[in-house]
Amino acid sequence: MATRRKFLRQSLMGGAAVFARVSGPAAGGPIVVSTWDFGKSANAGAWEVLGKGGRALDAVEQGVRIPEADPSIQTIGYGGLPDRDGRVTLDACIMDDRYNCGSVMCLEYIKHPISVARLVMEKTPHIILAGDGALQFALANGFHKENLLTDKSKKDYEEWLKTSHYSPEVNIENRLHDPMPGGATNHDTIGMLAMDEQGNLSGACTTSGLAYKMHGRVGDSPVIGAGLYVDNEVGAATATGVGEEVIRIVGSHLIVELMRQGLSPEAACREGIGRIIRRGPDRAKDIQVGFLALNKKGEYGAYCLQQGFTYAVRSEKEDRIYKGKSIY
Ligand code: ASP
Repeated sequence: MATRRKFLRQSLMGGAAVFARVSGPAAGGPIVVSTWDFGKSANAGAWEVLGKGGRALDAVEQGVRIPEADPSIQTIGYGGLPDRDGRVTLDACIMDDRYNCGSVMCLEYIKHPISVARLVMEKTPHIILAGDGALQFALANGFHKENLLTDKSKKDYEEWLKTSHYSPEVNIENRLHDPMPGGATNHDTIGMLAMDEQGNLSGACTTSGLAYKMHGRVGDSPVIGAGLYVDNEVGAATATGVGEEVIRIVGSHLIVELMRQGLSPEAACREGIGRIIRRGPDRAKDIQVGFLALNKKGEYGAYCLQQGFTYAVRSEKEDRIYKGKSIY
């Protein structure tokens, strides 16, 4: 018994030592990275928190609220393209530096699903709330019901209804290079990863998911480990693109584990993309998936299947958009 207690005490002390070691101040200062071109304005929102020494968790929430509220971005939040029944359903999750996480799936009528996900994390004993339960929870916590279907997205949807037969095959629904009616893209999530002055990591991911998906479909974005994962010992990763393929390989968790084994963020993302190809070469040909990762040293990197994926970086040294390298 005494030996067991001693063992436990040693393990706990060992754990504390690891935690202390990984929580030193960020050597290169705070940094935030996020997916796609719209990540730049989202990063600016996050930087208002990070630049003042604020917490990464607050930064990622504040950052992704910017595209969530922007009706011109038809793949996230307000103004997002609806599902095939004309309903805007949103997915989001958030994760902090202590393995706390919260998620909402298939949430309707709420402009800022990321803030509901944070409340799920902080105010409930659960991690995920879905559908009507998530909506009830949001309304009970002061969020207001709003119509998220803008005139533009409604028009695009009505156009799609005229010409498109619904097919649940993602490769057919989501051909990367086919412009959607009205010129909209049919997917593009914001995934954001930040490290604060204290050297702690957090991440957020929010989306309206694939346009014209089946009602009730949930992608990778609100699935902890798939669309987002944060491990404060190692680094964080996030994903965008056809979520079914990201879930299949539990993409973001995979990338964090690859970084734990010593791979750079870019090499880990490349290996994640390679895994998608190996698990389904035929599926991978016509779709897009992009991974973005940040490690504890403040190094970042990305990789994608097809050309066209971009990501934005903001730190004390830079504020710019990069093209992700692609396999195809
Ligand atoms: N990953 C999202 C989903 O599958 C869509 C996207 O990022 O483009 O719902």
